[in-house]
Amino acid sequence: MDASHRIVCPRCSYDRVRRVYRKGPLQKFIYPLFGYYPWRCTRCGKKLMLRLRNLEQTA
Ligand SMILES: [Zn+2]
Repeated sequence: MDASHRIVCPRCSYDRVRRVYRKGPLQKFIYPLFGYYPWRCTRCGKKLMLRLRNLEQTA
């Protein structure tokens, strides 16, 4: 297991965030241009934009 792939919420430091579906033109068309994907903290609900599609991604 590689701990470096763990994502921690910047607001509450919780380490359980999940991918959420893109909503609106900004997330659908603008963020993908920069390789960003929307994530959400499962504890406080804070939305995060990360350059990571899923936790298994290594490249
Ligand atoms: Zn949080």
